[in-house]
Amino acid sequence: MRQRVTELPAGYRQYLTIDLQHDKKTALKVNLWGVAIMVVLFLIGALIKPISLILDRDEGLSAFLLHWGVVIVSMLVYLVMHELTHAAAMKYYGSTKVRFGFTGMYAYAGSEVDYFAKKPYRVIALAPLVLWTLILTPICFAVPQDWFWPMWVLLVMHVSGCIGDIWVTLRLLREPEGIYVRDTGVEMTVFSGK
Ligand SMILES: [Zn+2]
Repeated sequence: MRQRVTELPAGYRQYLTIDLQHDKKTALKVNLWGVAIMVVLFLIGALIKPISLILDRDEGLSAFLLHWGVVIVSMLVYLVMHELTHAAAMKYYGSTKVRFGFTGMYAYAGSEVDYFAKKPYRVIALAPLVLWTLILTPICFAVPQDWFWPMWVLLVMHVSGCIGDIWVTLRLLREPEGIYVRDTGVEMTVFSGK
């Protein structure tokens, strides 16, 4: 079985569509899991460094604005980097037509002409989670103490923001090996030959 095709093998038919933009019930469930992950990671942060550091009165307003200004700018940069990471993984498997977009709710990278086998698609879905967790976690511990919480918040936003990618991966675990997945960034369709 090829890792990526632009034309489905004979007999393959669509049998599952995941469209979180229109499936509001599932979208709500996934987002609640995202919030749960956010809370748990925030509490883990509080076990590592006291929460009181966030509102350190000795810090002064300019340092406070600098810390959280950097977080906001980093988050915007991160959103782009997250999608570029998906795109790089798609390109790794040979995709030449990756599209980027913004729905108003979230940014996306996708392709309308590529069909990925189950394992490559899993790599594409999880690439940002793995790569940016490996980059951001050491940064949290390398920075001076006053930068811990701003960087930890960035890490928490990153991991909880990957909830859609995590959910899709878990959803596909129970599907057979022979499937192909097309992900336009907005809608995901699964095709099977059986
Ligand atoms: Zn993603």
